[in-house]
Amino acid sequence: TRATKVLSALDIPTETGKVIPGVYDGAWGGSGETIESRCPSTGELLATVSTATPKELQDAISKSRDAYKQFRFMPAPRRGEVVRQIREALADKRDELGALVSLEMGKIYSEGQGEVQEFVDICDYAVGLSRMMNGRVISSERPGHSILEVPNPLGVVGVLSAFNFPVAVYGWNLALSMAAGNATLWKPAPSTPLCSVAVTKIVAKVLEKNGIPGAVAGLVCGGKAAGEAVVGSSEIDMVSFTGSEAIGKVVGKAVQDRFGKVLLELGGNNAVIVMPDADLSLALPSVLFSSVGTAGQRCTSTRRLYLHRSIASEFLERLQKAYKTVRMGDPLTKGTLLGPLHNEGAVGVYKQAIEAIKSSGGEIVVGGNTDMTELLPSELHQGHFVQPTIAIPKSPSTSQDIWRNETFAPVLNVAVFDELDEAIEWNNAVPQGLSSSLWTRDIRNIGKWLGPGGSDAGIVNVNVGTSGAEIGAAFGGNKSTGWGRESGGDAWKQYVRWSACTVNFSNEVPLAQGVNFDT
Ligand code: NAD
Repeated sequence: TRATKVLSALDIPTETGKVIPGVYDGAWGGSGETIESRCPSTGELLATVSTATPKELQDAISKSRDAYKQFRFMPAPRRGEVVRQIREALADKRDELGALVSLEMGKIYSEGQGEVQEFVDICDYAVGLSRMMNGRVISSERPGHSILEVPNPLGVVGVLSAFNFPVAVYGWNLALSMAAGNATLWKPAPSTPLCSVAVTKIVAKVLEKNGIPGAVAGLVCGGKAAGEAVVGSSEIDMVSFTGSEAIGKVVGKAVQDRFGKVLLELGGNNAVIVMPDADLSLALPSVLFSSVGTAGQRCTSTRRLYLHRSIASEFLERLQKAYKTVRMGDPLTKGTLLGPLHNEGAVGVYKQAIEAIKSSGGEIVVGGNTDMTELLPSELHQGHFVQPTIAIPKSPSTSQDIWRNETFAPVLNVAVFDELDEAIEWNNAVPQGLSSSLWTRDIRNIGKWLGPGGSDAGIVNVNVGTSGAEIGAAFGGNKSTGWGRESGGDAWKQYVRWSACTVNFSNEVPLAQGVNFDT
């Protein structure tokens, strides 16, 4: 089968009935419960993967700690050279790994490849960073003294990741964490274990070639229990969590409870505002991609569309037409733009959202169906396909759950506004604060949007959709999205331990602030 082909190209054993080891701490193993990886498009069982027993998990954590104690002494530019080799190894397998993302997560091939490319890009970034993770020298008020701010490796970074970016989210973390001199231990989503096994094999080979302990990039497949063990372990200095707001809240509190560091990348509820002066022919494909792309399963997917009254009906009409042209089907087939939802649970969430809109008096403008059998070939009838949906809830009031909650499926809620201020208020009136986008050609609108009274999100775009960020800027959101920042910008500064070091080169020991303590 094509799954066998993809898996064997990625060095994953494919014999029927064989359990694939899902734990790596320098050696592959895991004798705990097994988890199943299923293809969301066909329902086919791709493979069974092992997880760690609680004891094996603690061992993996300890091995990560030992690995860190060794790895931290490697100079940063040399660590960067290792990241560069990982980049090369990933680029070599971009197509195979991209195909595995499509098979296991369900996104289309071009997006699967894009995800691997994102990992490659962040490696490039981290290679450069490895020569400029600079501290500072601060002038001291005391003669003959210097103050240095010094970044040192932090320790072990535990990465808990979501199903929807089964490669890139780990990539963002690993590249920075490794350049910073840490060991990283990955607990991926339980439904995408194969992507994490494939990535870890690629990384492990490079580490081995360089004589670096494998536990510098360890892996523990598993679900909630494995996540909780990582969260609770005092041997893990920082937990970088990507997932839902509900779990993020639990994780954030638990890590805080032991005074660990936590980085949260949680749900989004992202709005696009279209002004009357916008170039609608540009806004249209962009809104289409952001709302339908990845079947609405990006944290940055557009969930709310605010249209100015003067262009609302024209824009909506054109958008409906565009929705109907989106080709649904197998994510690996050329020309497919819309794959399935990831699992049956997500289909349930989609159905509930449609029901809530209808029962509260809202209108489904297009979509709303989950029975796709007539539109799809028989081999996809077990897949989790749903129709991308545009809805007009009865009221734009953001006190309604329909507007306030992130529905992780292709449901776009639309409302009409009269003044930009009103639309900005709606944009900001939800708990989440990840991504946002304004379409306008009027510089005054842009100034308002980017300024103190503008969007309160972590990502504030102009004439660019809500999804599809590049790695160069810090990525993340405010409010219930968790305030975390990953990838570019100053994100690397969280992966190190900072010390303020005052050094006295003089023959006196003066006190700061002129304090006198003469005896
Ligand atoms: P999820 O919250 O269900 O799971 C995330 C991870 O947490 C998984 O690895 C899971 O096994 C683990 N986990 C579950 N319970 C746990 C517990 N009690 N303690 C520790 N770990 C636990 O999320 P999901 O459904 O996989 O992903 C979808 C969500 O992720 C969406 O809300 C989406 O917006 C969000 N997301 C956010 C970003 C971002 O950068 N802001 C990126 C991607 C996805």
